[in-house]
Amino acid sequence: MKTCKFCGKEFDENLTFCPFCGKENAERKLTYVEKKKAREKDTEIILSKASIQDEDLKKANEGQISWLYSEKIGTINSSKTKSLILIVLSVIAMIGCVVWAQLTLKNDIQDNLKLLIVVAAYFAVAVAGAICISEIYVFRAYLNLEKQPMVVMKVTFNKGPMFSYKDMLYEMKTSEKCHLCEGDLHIEEKDGQIVFVCSQNRAHLYTINMEEYFAQFKEKIEQN
Ligand SMILES: [Zn+2]
Ligand SMILES: [Zn+2]
Repeated sequence: MKTCKFCGKEFDENLTFCPFCGKENAERKLTYVEKKKAREKDTEIILSKASIQDEDLKKANEGQISWLYSEKIGTINSSKTKSLILIVLSVIAMIGCVVWAQLTLKNDIQDNLKLLIVVAAYFAVAVAGAICISEIYVFRAYLNLEKQPMVVMKVTFNKGPMFSYKDMLYEMKTSEKCHLCEGDLHIEEKDGQIVFVCSQNRAHLYTINMEEYFAQFKEKIEQN
């Protein structure tokens, strides 16, 4: 733990920026590039920490997020197809690599080379397997989104929560910054509730009224 030079609160010593007041706590003056790197590292450390805490959620700031929008991803069918193709390709890759490993074992080549190829082949099987499992999860999420329009769900790690409306898939996004420390906000889901989490401090949380959000969304869609 280290103590912030500005607000006096204690925080993780691996962080450069204080998660409470956002001020820089470096040993020496940092260059622009160093600052940017430190910011990225801080974000990584904070986001890798445990998920949203219940006690923090109770203190969440409600209704402060106004820069909220949704981005059209495409039809729900095309997303499902893409996911299905990835599942099929990863299964083919897995079978292909197992066959490759087996054929290599029968081949009359150097033992060292044989071992290397077999290890590589099984490593590829593991990678393809991981892709396959995650895509099955994504595909199932798309099926659920299709069945229940206007229900928000986190589908993949690198994208915000999604919902469907009239066969189209949308991703929730925000360009709003944290009101307490100017950190970027990430949209996460906890027990079916949408929570905006500050990338600099996981205790800086925001919630919105989903009914209002959907009402505004529908109004916009009908206008276009
Ligand atoms: Zn501070
Ligand atoms: Zn913040």
